[in-house]
Amino acid sequence: MPSRSEKQRNFIFAKRSEYKTKSNTPEDWQWVWDSEWEKIEERLPMKRYKPLFESDIYDSLLKFDGSDADIKQLKEWLSTLNLKSGKAPSGMAKQYAEIKFLQKQIDMIEAYKGSSIGVSNIKATLQHLTKDDLIKLTQKLSAKEDEPTTLELKNAIYHNESISSYQTFKKNSEAIDKFLGTLTGFHKKALTIKPLNIYFVKKDAMKSKAKYITAKDVFYIRPDKIESGDKYASLLYIIVHELGHRYLHFNKVSFRHNDPEWITTPYSKTDSMTEEEKFAELFALSFFKYSGKPFEDYKDKIEKFVGLVK
Ligand SMILES: [Zn+2]
Repeated sequence: MPSRSEKQRNFIFAKRSEYKTKSNTPEDWQWVWDSEWEKIEERLPMKRYKPLFESDIYDSLLKFDGSDADIKQLKEWLSTLNLKSGKAPSGMAKQYAEIKFLQKQIDMIEAYKGSSIGVSNIKATLQHLTKDDLIKLTQKLSAKEDEPTTLELKNAIYHNESISSYQTFKKNSEAIDKFLGTLTGFHKKALTIKPLNIYFVKKDAMKSKAKYITAKDVFYIRPDKIESGDKYASLLYIIVHELGHRYLHFNKVSFRHNDPEWITTPYSKTDSMTEEEKFAELFALSFFKYSGKPFEDYKDKIEKFVGLVK
């Protein structure tokens, strides 16, 4: 049998030098001359934590004592969990909160190169968790590596920060991208001036269905509020409205777009910090030139707008 450690092998060598030769070694120490002991048992480094095959890691996690190895192990385990969604597995709100707290302590230990408060917080938190909790959390929160949270499509870059599945995220992104591909003229210019990043966000990120965040030059979309089709106030309509804001962010327009003459839909009258709503609405109305309301009502204004922006 090979030695289990360097220490054990040194012990074997020490015994051998003590007795010098095999013939000089007492009966019950004869085994130290077995050549197998010269080798050290090769231990495969654990590259990645695999919940299915290494269930005894949970015992090890619960015995956390604050050593570097313990910190590393806990950090590695947490990294296999998807904690970004903010959604606790059903019936596990308490345990989920404990796990999020553990992650915070690990971040603190990392940030301050060791933190005794972090270590004692981890110890205290683990007291509230059982092996069963850890197994369940691993099963329910294992991040799926084959499911990206970013998709770079032809017309924009999409990011999934919502709790939508990858399939939903992909489907929504593809639908929007296909639509963006139909833009032409100044509508297209608002899109192509720079690559556009579109984020699908969680419910608590904002109240509206979609929004252009000027400071970051990104779109936020709430996937749980998507209204399909392309009628007035549908998601596609709102996207073009938001592109109107983006157009103003990157281009100068030569007319006073905030004058009352540009009032159209009730949306265009909403109090806005940016005073851009009249423009954004006309930007969208001029793309969706349907017959019927509300487009027909503002036909003259829309045509005048198109002539000026072109
Ligand atoms: Zn707006």
